[in-house]
Amino acid sequence: MYLLYALPISGRKVCGKFSERKVAKGQKTCYNLSGSLHKSGTGTLSRAYHSGKGAIALKYKFISDSHTHSENSFDGKDSVLLLCERAAQLGLYSLTITDHCECHEYYANNVRQDIEGSVRDTLKARGVYADRLRIYTGIELGQPTQDPSAAAEALSLAEYDFVLGSLHNLRGEQDFYFLHYTADNVHDLLDRYFEELLELVKSDCFDSLAHLTYPFRYVAAEPSLRITPKDYADQIDTVLEQLAHQQKALEVNTSGLRQKIGVTLPDEAILRRFHELGGQYVTVGSDAHRWGDIASGIEDALPMLQRCGFSHFTVYQKRTPDLFPI
Ligand SMILES: [Zn+2]
Ligand SMILES: [Zn+2]
Repeated sequence: MYLLYALPISGRKVCGKFSERKVAKGQKTCYNLSGSLHKSGTGTLSRAYHSGKGAIALKYKFISDSHTHSENSFDGKDSVLLLCERAAQLGLYSLTITDHCECHEYYANNVRQDIEGSVRDTLKARGVYADRLRIYTGIELGQPTQDPSAAAEALSLAEYDFVLGSLHNLRGEQDFYFLHYTADNVHDLLDRYFEELLELVKSDCFDSLAHLTYPFRYVAAEPSLRITPKDYADQIDTVLEQLAHQQKALEVNTSGLRQKIGVTLPDEAILRRFHELGGQYVTVGSDAHRWGDIASGIEDALPMLQRCGFSHFTVYQKRTPDLFPI
């Protein structure tokens, strides 16, 4: 079995969904730019894109994406290999695969199987891309304080390079994505969010805190509420102080730039505050769930970090922070 795939050339609009396919020996398979599949009968197997044409001129010497999801996440679309291919094509310095581990449903949903698959695929890709891209093993540990034994088991499954800490849902509630926000419930939900987020930070089981302003991604979709992170400045300061005190990283998550909220998670003001409060480490991640979003928005996030006072961003390897100049 051979794996072949094509990627779009920079600046060209891609229609349709690309995915990697296994094909029979002796048959070459690739995708054209409209996403449709075509086959040729040659016995020569090679990647269908030519690296020189697909390469994109990067403005910064070091670009790393430290938050990405493969098909080993329940909501991920593409294989680890396809994500790596895109990262290599873009000329990234490194890529970290951080598939979901939702601890509160770890046993019910057999998340262990997904995590083991993610690490296996990532290590395999590391071998395939040894001379083109640094590839790190990671995990997005969601709600670890809601089931500490699940979190401990997930962390024992591999020697991760990087652990993101996330809070996607409050205890006993659905993911913030599914909630309906009204003037009556929104403040209670957000108060509980920041309380539980502080509990997560104090649990100390992660390297970088992911998307600190996660619920605002959805609250912002209800403009009538007119609630912004500024309304929670004191609670946010407490979380930032605790992160700085524990020498943990804060993530700047660029997914917000692709969504209605239109800013990074967290935004520039919060990143500046983290610097003022003594924060040293900031990781940068696209939160891509498909190959086309790899590194998306990172070239916008880096100058923003500079404006906030950071001269470096951070990449974790073997759970140790490495600083890279912006
Ligand atoms: Zn997340
Ligand atoms: Zn994520």
